[in-house]
Amino acid sequence: MKSLALFTTFCAMQLTTVLVNGEAINRRHLGKRAVPLSATGAASTSSGSLPTPTAIVATGSAAALSSTGTPGTVAGTGTTPTPVVAGTPPAATGTDIPALTLISSGMPTRTARAAATTYAPGAQPPISGAPKLPTLVTAVSLPTASYPAENVVPDTNSPQVQQWMKELDGFNIPDLKPTVDGSCASDPQFAADSANRGWWTCGGVTRDTDIVACPDKFTWGVSFDDGPSPYSDLSGTAAPYVLDFLQQKNLSATFFVVGSRILERPQILVQEYMAGHEISVHTWSHSKPLTSLTNAELVAELGWTRQIIKDVIGVTPTTMRPPWGDIDDRVRAVSMAMGMIPVIWTRSPSGSTFDTNDWKVAGGQGTAADSFNTFQTILSQASQMETGFVVLEHDLFEVTVDIAIGYTLNAALNNNPKFNLEAIGQCQKFPAANMYLETNTNKTFPFPKNNATGANGSGSAAGSNSGGNNGKSGALRTLGLEQTKVVGVAVLVLTLALSMFA
Ligand SMILES: [Zn+2]
Repeated sequence: MKSLALFTTFCAMQLTTVLVNGEAINRRHLGKRAVPLSATGAASTSSGSLPTPTAIVATGSAAALSSTGTPGTVAGTGTTPTPVVAGTPPAATGTDIPALTLISSGMPTRTARAAATTYAPGAQPPISGAPKLPTLVTAVSLPTASYPAENVVPDTNSPQVQQWMKELDGFNIPDLKPTVDGSCASDPQFAADSANRGWWTCGGVTRDTDIVACPDKFTWGVSFDDGPSPYSDLSGTAAPYVLDFLQQKNLSATFFVVGSRILERPQILVQEYMAGHEISVHTWSHSKPLTSLTNAELVAELGWTRQIIKDVIGVTPTTMRPPWGDIDDRVRAVSMAMGMIPVIWTRSPSGSTFDTNDWKVAGGQGTAADSFNTFQTILSQASQMETGFVVLEHDLFEVTVDIAIGYTLNAALNNNPKFNLEAIGQCQKFPAANMYLETNTNKTFPFPKNNATGANGSGSAAGSNSGGNNGKSGALRTLGLEQTKVVGVAVLVLTLALSMFA
């Protein structure tokens, strides 16, 4: 296993980060569509920083986040943090959030409360035209026999996965060999070819279809990954967690949820959805980087998460986020063939990722102060950008939630000038309904067959772009409204798309 340092150094030496002028991208979007993975844009080189190599080390209901040398590293048993702070953490002024210096992986957790709000089957969700809540909405836990085992890649021979595989028919899925473990170090040849493979992990290569930022300056697309967790909960005023904070501040966020966690905590997913937050797919097991999986395994990871979300809240997300940001053109194509647009997070023009490293605190490999300092650097860089941005944060652990609702979110809200905090689809100006298949009003998405991918792994590097300044991602064409300006193409695509829905 390669060390993180080796991994980082190696990739920084080997790879290039491709920078594209954001305005040029926007014009391209208006003038061309239906080639979502097409390679366009000029490339320049700089040393790229690397995405966060983390792994969810799952231990049943209490999955632990750990940092490991490579994103492909997965352990069957997690390391249980050893408490290093005894007693109840002192409350910060006015809240139950501990002082920043006391937040650590071993600190005692507050007592999570029962869900403060429950919803009945048949209740009407806040999304216009959404199906009423299904009967499973009241389940405290879901029937495990109806779903794959937690925290491992689901069986690809199941009838469900075999059926979902048919969704790839007619789409151009690039014939890219899976990576060893999603790390640049384990696949140096692939890493050197990352621009052609569209591999974000090695050099931050993105495609027009990726959502990596918000278009408007000083706008932060807020997201929380890896839940639902007890700390996502709407818990009441005594121990504010994510949903409490967002409610108090009247903010919306995007939750990238893991199927295995939904199986344990469906009611928290319901709370997130019913509070008007965006729900997006973040794989079933979160156990392996997606570029290391076969097409069938990708379909299983995405399909089962899509399924359990639909079962619990009645809608199917039209977006997904790859764990660790590990995506290439094959993963993109499979995701989009299944009706999900990739969402990653921002890289600055200098190549650094907008990752708070909160996962390091949960894994005992960094302090909360380190994470907050990292975030302040992100805000500083964001202030210099012409677009908005998307930041990686997690809600699986109390310490990461404390950092977010106690410090990072407030820092942005209290900044002068103030940052606008919005959910990621919201900041893209997508109608809320377009975040779900059942309510999506944009008939150009999902993509029509035979026209879904422009990249095939052998295309020109000219098509790559970095996330740093690509505020208006190509997804505007697919979920949003700008594509209405290309009427002729839209009519054609509408016809094709409608035939898909039939
Ligand atoms: Zn994740």
